[in-house]
Amino acid sequence: MTTGPAPGSEPSAATEVHACAQPTWRCTACEQPWPCPPARQALADQFGTDRVGLSVYMGEMLAPAARDIRLSPGELWDRFIDWTR
Ligand SMILES: [Zn+2]
Repeated sequence: MTTGPAPGSEPSAATEVHACAQPTWRCTACEQPWPCPPARQALADQFGTDRVGLSVYMGEMLAPAARDIRLSPGELWDRFIDWTR
């Protein structure tokens, strides 16, 4: 078994993914609190007109985040849910 990156698999800055690092819930690309603006845009593009699906998805992300980071319910709502409406 080999370790290390396979040829041609180097990550490209142009396709940087704004994913959440856990348990800090900061963006892996720009280190802003996740979802950062690029992550929100990517999620909105991914779900398209399915705003209900987007809000359900973010609600599922909120539950583990609420265990890991100490935010008030209002702060959690603003960060995870409010922007999906
Ligand atoms: Zn980001």
